[in-house]
Amino acid sequence: MRKLQGLREGRRDPSLTRAWLPSSTVPSPNPMLELLREVRSSEPLVSAMAIKRLIYYPQDEALLRQKSQPVSNLKNKRLKRLIQDLKDTLESQRGAAIAAPQIGVYKRVAVAKFGQNDDAEEEPMLTLINPEIIEAGELETGFDGCLSIPDIYTWDTSRPSWIRFRARGEDGGEIIRRLEGLDARVLHHEIDHLDGILFLDRLRDPNELYTPVEGADGKTKMVRLVDLRKMS
Ligand SMILES: [Zn+2]
Repeated sequence: MRKLQGLREGRRDPSLTRAWLPSSTVPSPNPMLELLREVRSSEPLVSAMAIKRLIYYPQDEALLRQKSQPVSNLKNKRLKRLIQDLKDTLESQRGAAIAAPQIGVYKRVAVAKFGQNDDAEEEPMLTLINPEIIEAGELETGFDGCLSIPDIYTWDTSRPSWIRFRARGEDGGEIIRRLEGLDARVLHHEIDHLDGILFLDRLRDPNELYTPVEGADGKTKMVRLVDLRKMS
């Protein structure tokens, strides 16, 4: 899941400044966006880190729609490699979490940084193998963004207000935790990836998609995609 600190609540706040936006965002739509995509998807210059090429919507939607298989052997060397690749790739992005299918591996593995709620401190990366929801609260609408869908955000997806989940950690040990608010949304978003579901599928109103656009005053505002079409 993509992070957007400071913008969680205030999509129509005219005081939103560029400083609150991910440094990688550019005004859109814009020919630069294509260029940005190309740069992002090219092979990393430093090969020591295993930063993998991200799979993007809509160009590779079919790949993002594939379902992932449970991990059966927790001691597999390829699993260790996959976890490291996910960590390195997440580290290179402005994201709270990443799931294996986003780098083209169809195994039920995700890496997440919880502690995304306003009053919390971001936690170190946590590996989640075969994550499963045990119990969940009522649905509520809220923020969503995805590393595979760059520069598109919403405050309109339905997800559980809290979740109790089970997973295996990197060392094979069982993790059982309860998450609330944005953390619950992050986990739900990642499990969705393992099932081929994208946040776009969970919008209550398909028009509630926003992209950052720089105004004449140099400030970046969130503009609805549908309004952008009318403007151009
Ligand atoms: Zn995502």
